[in-house]
Amino acid sequence: MKIGLEIHFQLKGSKLFCSCSTEGTKKDLYFQRKMTPTMSELGKIDRAAEYENIRNRNFTYYVSDNSCLVEADEEPPHDPDMENIKTAIIISLALHCNVVDYISFMRKIVIDGSNTSGFQRTGIIGMDGYIETSKGKVRISTVTLEEDAARKLSNREDHVDYSLDRLGIPLVEISTEPDIVDENHAIETAKKIGFIVMSLNNFRREVDSIRQDVNFSMGFGRVEIKGVSKLSMIRETIKYEVKRQLSLQKASEIINERGNIHISDFINVDNIFVNTTSNMIKKAFAGNKNVFAAKLENLNGLLKKGDFRLGKELADVTKNLGIGGLMHSDEFPGYGISETELNAIYDLLNKGANDAVILVLTNADTKNSLKNMISERLNKIINMSLEETRAAMESGETRYLRPLPGKERMYPETDTELIEIEDNLINSLMKNIPESMDIVISKLKNKYGLSGVESDALLNNNLYYTFMDMVNVYEIPKTIARILLQDIPEYERKYGIKLGNEKVLKVLHIAHNNKWERNTIEKALEILSTGKVNINELEFMEELKTLDYDSINDIVRKLIINENINEKNIIPEFRKQTKESFNPGTVMEIYKKLKRSI
Ligand SMILES: [Zn+2]
Repeated sequence: MKIGLEIHFQLKGSKLFCSCSTEGTKKDLYFQRKMTPTMSELGKIDRAAEYENIRNRNFTYYVSDNSCLVEADEEPPHDPDMENIKTAIIISLALHCNVVDYISFMRKIVIDGSNTSGFQRTGIIGMDGYIETSKGKVRISTVTLEEDAARKLSNREDHVDYSLDRLGIPLVEISTEPDIVDENHAIETAKKIGFIVMSLNNFRREVDSIRQDVNFSMGFGRVEIKGVSKLSMIRETIKYEVKRQLSLQKASEIINERGNIHISDFINVDNIFVNTTSNMIKKAFAGNKNVFAAKLENLNGLLKKGDFRLGKELADVTKNLGIGGLMHSDEFPGYGISETELNAIYDLLNKGANDAVILVLTNADTKNSLKNMISERLNKIINMSLEETRAAMESGETRYLRPLPGKERMYPETDTELIEIEDNLINSLMKNIPESMDIVISKLKNKYGLSGVESDALLNNNLYYTFMDMVNVYEIPKTIARILLQDIPEYERKYGIKLGNEKVLKVLHIAHNNKWERNTIEKALEILSTGKVNINELEFMEELKTLDYDSINDIVRKLIINENINEKNIIPEFRKQTKESFNPGTVMEIYKKLKRSI
């Protein structure tokens, strides 16, 4: 198994090729476009672009308060934002990449409408790096800086609505070589790369700010799986893909044993359904669609039975054409279609025992391209040449999107100049390189005495930098880890109020000045979480008063004289004597001193 990752991180601040902010919302203004592919400099049309062209869709773009004429592609790009470039250089350096001498932005053809211009601008910043993992070095091929695509709002049959708020947001793309050996290794690598990027101030911490593509191969061609949104879904997605490809391998063996595949023309079978009781078909007729049937030789039992799911592979094609799903003989009887209707179709197509039949509900224009596309797809499966672009679904499944793009899709951006990256700039950025995850974990354990579980939890919840801010205010690392990982989440659940780091920091300042112990700090945070007390009142609250040295001394003295007290029960016995907070360390210290003096 070979796995590579492409991880995309949004940066915040200014967009890459104009001065619009990365933050904004959609307005009600819109304009419409249609896209057609053009030939590359080499005189070829990219196959992914051609595929999109067959889909023949219209696009509507909603303007946003953070978009201008650049996003509308009515004005050339401005000079790229230098802060974004610096961030991409820092990331390249942290990943041990060579930074390029000159940045040359390229245009990458994208005609699914997600870019108004029909291309995405992208520039390589760093190359040939690596990241250390528990299973060896994973090589980094490139770190690129590119513009994010428009945000998809809705997807109708032949029409897509986009919002321009996301278009042009700077996106750092980090691509690894296929050095990752399994799904857990993929998650580890993604986490370690993510830690570096998320350490930077201008990483955009929003819901969809990180997106991962997984490049996967188990010997049947490279599959590029787009848009794995959550880290944990990498595991499910890879598992699904392994299962899918193994089942296709089995299906392809069976087909080869039976003979070969052949798909007949799609025949209009409307007349068979004149008196049908199938609601689905009645609805299709009402929408001026026809019923087309085709015979797939030697595919019986492989469309949907046991682990076989060729029907789903074909339905991806019809869905991409905007037809919707398809019905097939492995599912019949079903969809309200009668035995008589089925037999009439089977007779008409001369269906043999090994053959399958599919039905689609569409209009006549699409039926020819449909036959070609299904035939092409089946041939690829039978030859087990499975390379293609797929989409990751939230369920962990993947589905066919389009052919893999070829090298024809790239050509130089002529509207921006080459940008020279001088050594001075690189040297000045060296000091901003974030620490690696391994170094941070060892620091948390060795310098701050946290356990492995606590260290991992801080990192996994993105709390490392918050933790460091707090330790700088009051150096009680164990207590702060507990506050961040247990107390605050618990109070939030209990009182439904989010405290926010700023308030916690203020409480820690007060705690530091008053030498509060853990119990008192926790009590203060809980009181604040009720939302009933102002933070400035905390210091003066009776409940948070701590006993001073003399009062503690008096109580310990009394306890030692009157009771059977030892080191084990002194703290609980002391607690019985007072309602106020106290520092257990001080109690113990006084106890030991008094004990010695007796
Ligand atoms: Zn703009």
